Amino acid sequence: MPFCVATDGPAAAGKGTISKALAERFGYAHLDTGLLYRAVGAKTLQGMDAVEAAKSLVPEDMVDEDALRAPQVARAASQVAAQHDVRAALVDFQRAFARRDGGAVLDGRDIGTVICPDAEVKLYITASDEVRAERRYLEMRAKGVEITQEEVAKDLAERDRRDESRATAPLVAADDAIVIDTTALSIEEAVALAVQKVQAVLDA
Ligand code: C5P
Repeated sequence: MPFCVATDGPAAAGKGTISKALAERFGYAHLDTGLLYRAVGAKTLQGMDAVEAAKSLVPEDMVDEDALRAPQVARAASQVAAQHDVRAALVDFQRAFARRDGGAVLDGRDIGTVICPDAEVKLYITASDEVRAERRYLEMRAKGVEITQEEVAKDLAERDRRDESRATAPLVAADDAIVIDTTALSIEEAVALAVQKVQAVLDA
């Protein structure tokens, strides 16, 4: 039976970690939709047209996750993500994934508002700007990326601004989303809270 958990929110708020944990806990498939936009962004950095890249995307394009996590790819992703035709080219794949048998968790920016507006559970994961920048900075340093916390904070702010202000599918919490602010929560606490919200719907 299909069962969709839509997890949206700004960068580095914890939605990826929470989504992965939910998928594991409930036995659902997980799709990090940011990787689709990152893969398209990466192709534009190699000179390809963004819409062409989105239309011709194949699963192999999402394999090299480390390369796709680079800051310049994140920037390119949020630029291509503002193009209506790029988003349109990626809709069918995401909708089919959301409605697959056996349940799915999708994380992104527009899952609860555009991709799966009838999702059984909608979560909006957020955290303060400072905490998000610090988490992303520590994550990047651990991977050996040479970057300062100020640069990370600037990148996130610029990406948030672009994601929130674009005309097509801007980042916004769905009216019926459950908001989880992870600013003062540990990973375990945030995951436990999200698990509790999904379980409540399953038990209803
Ligand atoms: O989630 P992540 O940081 O990997 O996403 C990279 C970029 O892709 C975001 O800044 C956003 O511009 C775009 N994106 C989007 N819609 C989604 C997922 C990601 O516009 N569903």
